[in-house]
Amino acid sequence: MFLGHFGLGFAGKRLAPALSLGAAFLAVQWADLLFFPLCLAGVEHFRMHPGDTAVTPLEFDDYPWSHGLVALAGWSLLFGAIYFLARRERLAAVLFGLGVVSHWFLDAFVHRPDMPVLPRGPYAGLGLWNSWPLTIAAEAVVFGGGLFVYLRSTRARDRVGTWALWGLVVFLGATWLGSIFGTPPPGERAVELAGVGMWLFVPWGYWIDRHRAIVPAREARA
Ligand SMILES: [Zn+2]
Repeated sequence: MFLGHFGLGFAGKRLAPALSLGAAFLAVQWADLLFFPLCLAGVEHFRMHPGDTAVTPLEFDDYPWSHGLVALAGWSLLFGAIYFLARRERLAAVLFGLGVVSHWFLDAFVHRPDMPVLPRGPYAGLGLWNSWPLTIAAEAVVFGGGLFVYLRSTRARDRVGTWALWGLVVFLGATWLGSIFGTPPPGERAVELAGVGMWLFVPWGYWIDRHRAIVPAREARA
């Protein structure tokens, strides 16, 4: 899953206004932010295998530390604890931690059963990637829902608050469409380098956050 993780990040801002959108993106994307550098370092592995599922040509053979359920639960605890010690915001710390492990559950919808629970299995995955309509529906619903909640609960302080947000939405949408409809990447290394580029979304989230204000709950309901 790609867009859906960001949808959860957007929704997190509604639940814990103290949590920056950039921190929320760091949490929900942590598994992928870790995965590509670990692949470059030769610690985790995937390979190009066109037809692995209908939607993605990538075969994920080995990613116990970035995408294992137990590993992500450990990362969750660590993230939550660090956030709490740094900021003393209990709700934001809990959501920051939960955001990390949420990645496993969203990915488990779309991946075929290659998502490790423990580092060496058992493996889970519902395989929505075998179906184009289900993949597109799942990504659109989770991303669209989260963005809708975010738009209802924040407003731009200035023009940057509008354009930085919509620039991100367009960029994410174009990246996702390119990844599923575009020509397959030339090789594993190209995918890894593009994947490391996903770190860009963390400062982008912090940038948006600084230019948008929370709408008081009563106003948001009206
Ligand atoms: Zn992932």
